[in-house]
Amino acid sequence: MDRSRRVLVTGAGGFIGGHLVAELLRRGFEDVRAVDLKALGRWYQEHEGVENVSADLREKDACYAAAEGVATVFNLAADMGGMGFIETHKADCMVSVLINTNMLLASRDRGVENFLFGSSACVYAAGKQTDPNVTALKEEDAYPAMPEDGYGWEKLFSERMCRHFMEDYGLSVRVPRFHNVYGPYGTYAGGREKAPAAVCRKVIEAQLDGTGEIEIWGDGEQTRSFTYIDDTIDGLFRIMESEFSDPINLGSSQLVTINGLVDIVEGIAGVKLERKHNLSAPQGVRGRNSDNTLIRRELGWEPSISLEDGLEKTYRWIYEQMTSGAKDEAALAFQGT
Ligand code: NAD
Repeated sequence: MDRSRRVLVTGAGGFIGGHLVAELLRRGFEDVRAVDLKALGRWYQEHEGVENVSADLREKDACYAAAEGVATVFNLAADMGGMGFIETHKADCMVSVLINTNMLLASRDRGVENFLFGSSACVYAAGKQTDPNVTALKEEDAYPAMPEDGYGWEKLFSERMCRHFMEDYGLSVRVPRFHNVYGPYGTYAGGREKAPAAVCRKVIEAQLDGTGEIEIWGDGEQTRSFTYIDDTIDGLFRIMESEFSDPINLGSSQLVTINGLVDIVEGIAGVKLERKHNLSAPQGVRGRNSDNTLIRRELGWEPSISLEDGLEKTYRWIYEQMTSGAKDEAALAFQGT
């Protein structure tokens, strides 16, 4: 990527997008355009020296304006959240297809050279994720297709659309499949938060409120891998700079049960809480991990930051937010408050 050419980050007011813009600036990119639906002032990170724009990228005109003069697009905008959100907002998740369709059309017509689409481990077939003792998911396990309803289908469809824009129009595409990304400057309250942030928040609440209790969704024996944001951002640059255009896992392969995740956060906080398992809460698939054979082969690299180290930083940030009276701006913006 040429540092003097314009880069567009969509979803820049969100978690991954905010960190990506920061890293672009650190790496000396001179012309960065950052776009998000949320009003300015409500982004997790709003960087100086960047063209920050509030726009709805479901609208075709907004996508054409965003892609003007751009060489590289990181398309990360989507209406999304953790399991509690995507299981109850399937239509909203699918409407993100408008963002991806219009951004691809605008990129084709505005002469964009590189287009990265932020896909997800939710594209993987449900039948391959029924056992907590998982066999890690390889890229080809997305087919025969039976992804997460709503959100996963939209991601899989948009992955394919990227491929066809490359085949038919010569747009160079990159398609990382993110696996449960966590870290500071992301949502931890309001319904869109994912397990690591939710567990940190609940442990902090239990301490601040003195309840000594924590609610865990499901029996806690479901397994996942969680990827620290710095690894995700590093991987995004490596994938963009590689020649590899097929979908590729970008995730940690450190498997943990949700109970194990709670153990780690309790250890960081120095508390032991009574666990209340809510068996009727959304739980998602029973087990999921990232098989990193392909990324190791293609990039000679894979995420390596341990869950213990990543959670320590995440916990400290959420603690600071909760005890300083800060509000989870992302949650508030979506609730229209
Ligand atoms: P996020 O919700 O923090 O960021 C997404 C941003 O997109 C939000 O700030 C939102 O306001 C913006 N957005 C939504 N609709 C928009 C619209 N119509 N126009 C403009 N902006 C719009 O989520 P994130 O964790 O930063 O995720 C970024 C991307 O990565 C998304 O595409 C998501 O589906 C994908 N992903 C994330 C994870 C993860 O664990 N965080 C996992 C898999 C895939």
